[in-house]
Amino acid sequence: MLGRLGIMLMAVGVFVLDSATISGQSIESPANFFGFEIGTDGELAHYPKVLEYLEHLAAGSERMQFEHRGSTTNGHPYVLATFSSKANLDRLDRLIEINHQLSDPRLVGDDEAMALTREGVPFYFLYATIHSTEVGNGQTIIKIAHRLATEQSDEVKQILDNSVILLVPSQNPDGQVMVIDHWYDTKDTPYNRVFPDLYHRYTGHDNNRDWFMFTQKETRMSVDIHTEYRPQLTHDMHQMGATGARIFVPPFKVPYDPNIHPLLLEGQAQIGRAMTSALLTAGKKGVIYNDQFDLWTPARQYMMYHGQPRILTEIASAQLADPFVNPAGVDRPLGPQTSSINFPIPYDSAVWRLADIVEYGEIVVFAALRQVADHKNKWLENFYRVHKDWVDRDEAPFAFVVPSDQPDPFETYELLKLLDFAEVEIHRSRSAFTADGTTYPEGSWVIDLAQPYGAFAKTMLERQVYPDLRYYPGGPPIPPYDVTAHTLGLLMGVDVDQINTRFDAELERVEELTPQVTPLPDRPDWAYTISPTSNAAFQAVTQLEDVGVPVFRTAEAAQVGDQSVAPGTWIVPPTMVAKQVLERTIEETGLVVSALDQPPNVSGFRLKDKTRVGLWRVPNNMPGGWMMWLFEQYGLNHKIISSVDFENNLADLYDVIVLPSGTTTTRIIQGLSPRRYDESWRWAYGIGPTGWIKLQRWVKDGGTLVALGSAVETARELLNLPIRPVLPVRQDRTTAASNSDQSSNSQETRRLPNRVQDSVPSVTQPPESGRSLTGFYCPGSLLKQEHNPNHPVGFGMPERWPIFFRFDQAYELTSSDDISAEVVSRYPDEREMTASGWLLGDELLRNRANIVAFNVGDGSVVTIGSQIAFRAQPRVAFKLLFNAIFTGPATSLNSTELARLK
Ligand SMILES: [Zn+2]
Repeated sequence: MLGRLGIMLMAVGVFVLDSATISGQSIESPANFFGFEIGTDGELAHYPKVLEYLEHLAAGSERMQFEHRGSTTNGHPYVLATFSSKANLDRLDRLIEINHQLSDPRLVGDDEAMALTREGVPFYFLYATIHSTEVGNGQTIIKIAHRLATEQSDEVKQILDNSVILLVPSQNPDGQVMVIDHWYDTKDTPYNRVFPDLYHRYTGHDNNRDWFMFTQKETRMSVDIHTEYRPQLTHDMHQMGATGARIFVPPFKVPYDPNIHPLLLEGQAQIGRAMTSALLTAGKKGVIYNDQFDLWTPARQYMMYHGQPRILTEIASAQLADPFVNPAGVDRPLGPQTSSINFPIPYDSAVWRLADIVEYGEIVVFAALRQVADHKNKWLENFYRVHKDWVDRDEAPFAFVVPSDQPDPFETYELLKLLDFAEVEIHRSRSAFTADGTTYPEGSWVIDLAQPYGAFAKTMLERQVYPDLRYYPGGPPIPPYDVTAHTLGLLMGVDVDQINTRFDAELERVEELTPQVTPLPDRPDWAYTISPTSNAAFQAVTQLEDVGVPVFRTAEAAQVGDQSVAPGTWIVPPTMVAKQVLERTIEETGLVVSALDQPPNVSGFRLKDKTRVGLWRVPNNMPGGWMMWLFEQYGLNHKIISSVDFENNLADLYDVIVLPSGTTTTRIIQGLSPRRYDESWRWAYGIGPTGWIKLQRWVKDGGTLVALGSAVETARELLNLPIRPVLPVRQDRTTAASNSDQSSNSQETRRLPNRVQDSVPSVTQPPESGRSLTGFYCPGSLLKQEHNPNHPVGFGMPERWPIFFRFDQAYELTSSDDISAEVVSRYPDEREMTASGWLLGDELLRNRANIVAFNVGDGSVVTIGSQIAFRAQPRVAFKLLFNAIFTGPATSLNSTELARLK
């Protein structure tokens, strides 16, 4: 409660009038305030103006509070408006307290809980426009807010008396500003009106795939609302393409994560039925359910593990604010025209306007609010039951253990922090103990699944077994909506054991997580050393270079006295400045630093001071956005590549160029067209054939090129690398909305990309002809991998650890007269390749190469076939990526040179 009070005090304003008779006379209608009727063709309310309006409403209505919760990545306000009856707002703290008690059944007995369900009211968390090109819902909420704040109908009074509505008007304000500003700036110009780049600085459309790694500020602010208020359901308003159904409402389609409590699926279904019913009563056509959207990945559904059904609505899109019409010029509907059990009434016109989106949105939100208000006790009771069943859990697996002796204490700490942020309780052992036949050292962490948020812990820590879903037996796979694996330990390089039998251990609750700090040793005669296994070492390295301390690595294994020195061990001269940087990193990350009084007799490298990295971030390419986030987190000396760079000497600018997945040859040569995008997009114009030749030359003259995922093909084409793809090119990659590297600037060829909205083919439609089995399918899984820790790119990796793979490629080496190649990481010579998730066609990967290092002229190339750092989630692989970046420009040293540290 204290936390909440603190936030309220910091808020810019909390407006509650004490007049009991206010009826909204002093409140302007949306049409007056914005100067147009909400939903008017061509007109979109700007986000800052929406906030002004919410403040205006809050100032005039006793049913509403308004607060600033923080600022976004680009510095816009992230706000929350709270609606309820005056009586409920007056006792808001008590209502929140009730939610907290119901969500931890250990605090209350059944009788007390039932009394609380009568005293409390359910909280309905509603947010719009996480995907910023889905502009309609951001308009709809203006009308919803106006009605909740002013309307005197029995319906609205019943809703406000029996629920609290938490409204976040935009879950991604930055993008809303970008997209709507671009819309108006390009009015009456020859330019494309769809914003062509990522509408979130780092994540773009992936911004709703971050609900377990919590990397972005907006994600964390949203989770903070869950943590503080503990709502009973969350409604996430989206839009999909214009050519399918008019609206999707729950229930979802299979598969669902079996860790989701059945009552939550039932809650989804009930809200969905209420929505469908209201739409049909209003004569609205084109509603579909049990279709398209599944419930597998926690990356999209934090709430499903925190006692709440996720209510997703997906409404068809217009052309942003302009009407969508049949491109053929006739008014014939483009979507399905046959009714079915999950699609009761087909629609009959292709025309679809902003006003339709607003109208459908308003109908479904009020239908859901009514359902919740009408059954308020049931909502609170089910909320209690879900948590109660987890607290009472008494079946295998019972717990997960995170042993205290880890290769990377930093990532171990990071993993525990993620669980802690999601409110998972963590215990620590006071002494060694045995579970499932393994003895764990003192200080090991235990995550007991019998706890309120056991569902989140279980799904994040176990290995995923995805059902083998096909259109017909032996037929093509039914695509999942998103990826199929999310096992945190495997993603982060942390050993985590599942415990299937009961065990005893002396445990204490971890109240505050801190890094395990091993103090910096006394200043050695020769150098400080750092194991290559820790990701935190890279943070230390960039900080050391920032203050002018040179950094070295050993190239081979060695033994000095009783100390083993692994290949790739970091060597830092023991200066005063180095000591300060290392002490700080140790404090922040738990990095372990050792000391050597005499040098090992091995060769090594000296890293190039402040290695200059060019990141090729083609417009609207999510892997590029994530990579930028990653480089900023680790302090790499990097810059986004611009077409203007190609007017200069590339070697004066970059030591390394990184091509994230999706950086295709066409996209870098052609880029955005100057005819469709003004000068401000010049950086993203194509480099043309001369730029292409320049890039070739730059590598051969000594540059280092690192290519990931589909960009490996770009590198192969650029330099004629001696590798050949071995997987079928066509991989049934049909999850269009979520395919990070597929989100091309297809505006160039089409009037408007459907892909800017959520869009996937329907499972109820038969597969297109040609979408047959290719013998291989991997929509996002963790696959087994062997690494060579003796190769500079593999330094610090375990000899075996899974990597992430999503619609990617694997390779075999071919011969070349002038290019040498060495495999760093490969798929093992085994039958089964899956570590977590879903894969068809294991045998095609057997013994194939994933990461290959080449010498090309005076330069070097590293190709990484699979998206090993996908969405910045498989953190164990950051080492491979950073090694690839730092190795090429480094200087080789013999043992005498290394000993001198010069
Ligand atoms: Zn969306």
